[in-house]
Amino acid sequence: MQTRVNRRKFIVSATCSICGSVILPSCAQVPLTNRNQLNLYDSNLPIVIFQGSVAGIPIPKVYANEKSLNQEIDKVYNKFISQAKNDKILVDNTAESKKIKEIGTEIYSSINKYYQNNNQKNPIEDFKWQFALIESEQKNAWCMPGGKIAFYTGILPICKNDDGIAAVMGHEIAHAFARHTVEKLTQSSMIQMATIGISNSRYSQLLNRSFRIGNVGGNVYNSVVKYGIFLPFSRNMESEADYLGMAFMNLSGFDINEPSKLWGRMMLEQKKSVPEFMSSHPNPENRSNKFLEWENEIKDKFPRV
Ligand SMILES: [Zn+2]
Repeated sequence: MQTRVNRRKFIVSATCSICGSVILPSCAQVPLTNRNQLNLYDSNLPIVIFQGSVAGIPIPKVYANEKSLNQEIDKVYNKFISQAKNDKILVDNTAESKKIKEIGTEIYSSINKYYQNNNQKNPIEDFKWQFALIESEQKNAWCMPGGKIAFYTGILPICKNDDGIAAVMGHEIAHAFARHTVEKLTQSSMIQMATIGISNSRYSQLLNRSFRIGNVGGNVYNSVVKYGIFLPFSRNMESEADYLGMAFMNLSGFDINEPSKLWGRMMLEQKKSVPEFMSSHPNPENRSNKFLEWENEIKDKFPRV
């Protein structure tokens, strides 16, 4: 226990000092929430992520900037989609799959309109949106950086209605909007660089834990996992995605009372078996209260566009 506490302290201080001294320009602000974020995207510095290791030595992969990382992710996502098509689990041209696309399009179009109306630079203007519905019992949905979204049919009964789908969609879009994956990758890279001097074995454990998380159906979809796309988000990021997701719902005219109901349904579902969405989106007990707390502010700041 003692070791864990010390290590955590070390990681925090290492991250802060790196941020403060070496890579100062990479401290960005999340649009709309203005949270300070350590993010290599913003300054157009190279993004370094680690993919596996040989004899305990990590293999770095360097992307020039957000655009080149997103091009890679575009390939990974489309590989995922064609694999799903081959496996006959891609749901296409059904009322449900059209619904997913419609609601996703409604939300990102409203964000675009919001920025247009406010004459501000749109942080998602370069996103290449894609939506897919996958036939799976998994109660899950995700969004890769750059606007690559998948819903699994298993989550639809929990979503229950359009507003419920919009709640999950808004939350997922928010993770991409706020560049949470790269923030996490940035932090991991920092942590890994800082930790490597201490212990190679501890380092590789950390690497394994960080980069092998996700429920994408075993070996078939390993290429999705290898990019660290399913790194778990921190509680702050989850809360930020809840807030932004709710804001996006309101911009798009969905019912913002639904997110707290949706999480109520998730909690009920948990009694049978934990929805995959919940295991990748840890559920703070005060989640529902937060939604109620934000309601007036969101109605005020993010009215229907
Ligand atoms: Zn989340």
